Amino acid sequence: MMAHVSHGAHGTRGKHHLANSDNNANHAVYRGYFTQNNPDTEFIMQFIQSQIDTFTKKQSSSKNFATTVLVHTCDLRIAYAKSNISGERNEFVTRSALFGAGMHQLMESLISGKFLSTDETHEYIQQKYPNFEFIVEQKFRININTLQLSSEDDEYAIVLKPDLIIYDKVANEHYLVDWKTFYGNIKFFKPKFEDRRQMLIYSTLLNKIGFNITKIFLVYFLVQRMKIVPFILQFSDKDHEDMLNELQKRIQVFHTARQTKTLPLKHVGDWCKRCPFKKLCQNNVSPFEIQFKSD
Ligand code: SF4
Repeated sequence: MMAHVSHGAHGTRGKHHLANSDNNANHAVYRGYFTQNNPDTEFIMQFIQSQIDTFTKKQSSSKNFATTVLVHTCDLRIAYAKSNISGERNEFVTRSALFGAGMHQLMESLISGKFLSTDETHEYIQQKYPNFEFIVEQKFRININTLQLSSEDDEYAIVLKPDLIIYDKVANEHYLVDWKTFYGNIKFFKPKFEDRRQMLIYSTLLNKIGFNITKIFLVYFLVQRMKIVPFILQFSDKDHEDMLNELQKRIQVFHTARQTKTLPLKHVGDWCKRCPFKKLCQNNVSPFEIQFKSD
């Protein structure tokens, strides 16, 4: 009996009978059958989609403010995200959750040496970069008023997780590195406003807890070109001071709005098209009046 090979490669329609004749009986590898729209391929698609849905709607139990939420300048969007309301799944959310996470895992694995043996990695790093120490994906929770390390339960803390901090032991300086992915037209490519704000938040807070961040890198992976493009960012002391003031103000605004059950201010702009809370916002739904949806 000839073996059948089925796969669900979307875009290929119908049933193909490629090799099931005695003429091919001597082939070591049969080409087999492949079909697309049948109950088995549907089952596989449903399974994958449900995993994607679960992943993109994953909620955190932490009471801190995520930096990736505070990069937005709209108080209402921050309040929706902070109130753990499930936003709509849109192509931007799915894409950044999936490809962003994939890219981060890949880079983390490369740097921490998961693709090499531990010995090879240590030897490689020691030989090539004897003056450096690498801190990969470490989480920091920092209270915005005391500027001290804090806990998951702190509602005035910001959680940050820089992709990589490189410590130059000789110069006693730290370099901050973050990976990003870019999918669109290369002609319009430049570091995103939110990405630059994220780096400003990181450097502002990390310097307050004892780091000495002197260089900041945003490293973009241009998906359509399969190309890596690094940028170096510079911020002034004034940028850091302004960001600290903004964060303290925004977090207080959120708590006051929640206590008084008032709708936080909207900041409407081009970014609204990517906002997962657009429908709630258009209907003036208060983030403090609706229940957290867990699905
Ligand atoms: S759609 Fe725009 S104004 Fe409304 S919550 Fe989102 S970012 Fe804010």
